[in-house]
Amino acid sequence: MADLKEIFECTRCGYCCQGETTVSLDEKDQKRMVKALGLFEAEVREKYWRVTGTVVQMKVVDGHCIFYDEGCTVHLGRPWRCAEWPLHPSILTDSYNFETIRESCPGMNPEISYETFCRILREIMEKQDKVQC
Ligand code: SF4
Ligand code: SF4
Repeated sequence: MADLKEIFECTRCGYCCQGETTVSLDEKDQKRMVKALGLFEAEVREKYWRVTGTVVQMKVVDGHCIFYDEGCTVHLGRPWRCAEWPLHPSILTDSYNFETIRESCPGMNPEISYETFCRILREIMEKQDKVQC
């Protein structure tokens, strides 16, 4: 049976939470985050989100997502793109994507072959609608 730990185990290094922008939040993400924080949406919007037109992202503080503090402090309310990372479906279609993502995520098994990684990832994805790390 496929085991996520064979291909990935998060080291909580925080690399994917750094940078001058964050992933964007769709409507479901926004609702999930508001619920997880237990605040009114207006308060979450004011304190934690950067809204540009229709694009909602998380604020960046000191070069990282506002929720990053030696790990994700809004884990259950994080956007789906954060939950999916680094097991992006594009890995399955291009080994270059696999190598690029593996270079940026130390949680990905550094020893495993591309073919084995894809086989296990496919098995995991077949069991889940969306891979959650
Ligand atoms: S998903 Fe990868 S880059 Fe992000 S914190 Fe975990 S190990 Fe680090
Ligand atoms: S929501 Fe959590 S996982 Fe996503 S970028 Fe912010 S700190 Fe990282």
